Amino acid sequence: MVVIDSIGKGIVIDHITAGMGMKVIEYLDIDTTKDTVAVIMNAVSNKYGRKDVVKIENAADVDLTALGLIDPKVTVNYIEDHIIREKIHITVPEKVVNIIKCNNPRCVTSIEPGAPQIFHLIDRENREYRCEYCDDIISMKGGYGNEFIHKQWVNR
Ligand SMILES: [Zn+2]
Repeated sequence: MVVIDSIGKGIVIDHITAGMGMKVIEYLDIDTTKDTVAVIMNAVSNKYGRKDVVKIENAADVDLTALGLIDPKVTVNYIEDHIIREKIHITVPEKVVNIIKCNNPRCVTSIEPGAPQIFHLIDRENREYRCEYCDDIISMKGGYGNEFIHKQWVNR
């Protein structure tokens, strides 16, 4: 068993696919110059073998939709006074706005700057999404390194 130092207040993202902890930080646009962030790599997990864990001190929220896209088996623990106040199991999101980018150069979202990028889930198992405008399909399964994800969320 691996003992993980607790944080007083913040968020623990648990059961991240081993090796993907840094990617999660990148995609969630967590400011590692300001926030106190701990990444535990290759922790032993009874459930999934190996896992990464990310802890962000004093963070108020993370983008659960983005987490569902990147790694839907993660759990998010909200910590207060060193106690887990709430535990959320992430699900694959049905609708995704302004997180992934359409790959079709002729799509209106590629032509019009500021057009919202809207995708609808069409295949949960393979995490496939259809662009609302041009019907192009993007698969997020194993797509951790793909270029579709914005590093900066539009509304931040
Ligand atoms: Zn499109």
